[in-house]
Amino acid sequence: MIPFVDLRAQYLSIKDEIDTAVLKVLDSTQFILGNEVTALEEEFATYCDAESGIALNTGTSALHLALLAAGVGAGDEVITVSFTFVATVAAICYTGATPVFVDIDPVTYTIDVTQIEKAITERTKAILPVHLYGQPADMAPILEIARRHGLVVIEDAAQAHGAEYKGQRVGSIGDIGCFSFYPGKNLGAYGEGGMAVTKNAQYARTMRMLRDWGQERRYHHVVKGYNYRMDGIQGAILRVKLRYIEAWTEARRTHAAQYNQLLAGAVTTPTAVPSNRHVYHIYAVRVQMREQLQQELNNLGIQTGIHYPIPVHLQTAYSDLGYQYGDFPHSEKAAREVLSLPMYPELTTPQVTTVAESLQKIVQGVAVA
Ligand SMILES: *Cc1c(COP(=O)(O)O)cnc(C)c1O
Repeated sequence: MIPFVDLRAQYLSIKDEIDTAVLKVLDSTQFILGNEVTALEEEFATYCDAESGIALNTGTSALHLALLAAGVGAGDEVITVSFTFVATVAAICYTGATPVFVDIDPVTYTIDVTQIEKAITERTKAILPVHLYGQPADMAPILEIARRHGLVVIEDAAQAHGAEYKGQRVGSIGDIGCFSFYPGKNLGAYGEGGMAVTKNAQYARTMRMLRDWGQERRYHHVVKGYNYRMDGIQGAILRVKLRYIEAWTEARRTHAAQYNQLLAGAVTTPTAVPSNRHVYHIYAVRVQMREQLQQELNNLGIQTGIHYPIPVHLQTAYSDLGYQYGDFPHSEKAAREVLSLPMYPELTTPQVTTVAESLQKIVQGVAVA
């Protein structure tokens, strides 16, 4: 069996260090925030070329607090994409603002920058590009549009730890970058976790207060805050894992290159923009008759995923936004055709070969049938 991800393989490869780090936190009783979390904030901010890191309980909280720090609230609009994980859109709604969707570029699956300006109104406050699957959105035109219209840029980098756009680390290109440490993400905690990074001291200060009940000092609540703090154990685990992320990312990129080579001609393989460092949180191919392919791969013991089968503008929960089928054709088509193949650093070359050859054979069978 080849699983879609294998969190156990990664744990076993660093078990001694992880166990020691966890036991150290138990001994210190710094269960919430504390020294390990503070150290992680510094190390991860440095990794992202940012000034400050604010460690949080989830990536969703990072998006929520980034929007609040940027002053987004009821009556405002935030421009983003529909072809993303639902959290991107949920976080906008938490602030009382309205998500305004634009379509994706069908090659990179990131926001179509030529559609942004038409979506801007006098209510627009921010642009929220998503670095989907680990590929950076086209940040230069996004920043240029934002500057011209006085908008804040918040990066959803939940899938893109260590990704680079024209040599710049994602997360510190816009005003605030938001990361998730959900276990399956490229840098994953052993529980929930997230972080916001920024170069702006004022945004950092606001987010730090908001994550801990809006306190300036203990029991002095200067703004209405939240309980969005990171656990000490997660901070310690993430510090250990951060030391390996570059090696793990290079392993992902090697697997992706091997898939690309073996699958060329059989299916549409992902396109990494040459000036980007794509970090392949997800390796998604495009196929026709996806459900049948997925079933046949599953019969051969190969697990796959679909990220994501229904774009947010067609989700029941967001029907009140008033969109309908046909509004974002590239998003809708991608949602029908993408298929995510097994991708994690510990995959072996023979496993990648098995997946690719199985897919090849099925596609040829499907074609002649
Ligand atoms: C995972 C993810 C999030 C949310 O992160 P959580 O830590 O699960 O709250 C947000 N946006 C995208 C694109 C994601 O993949």
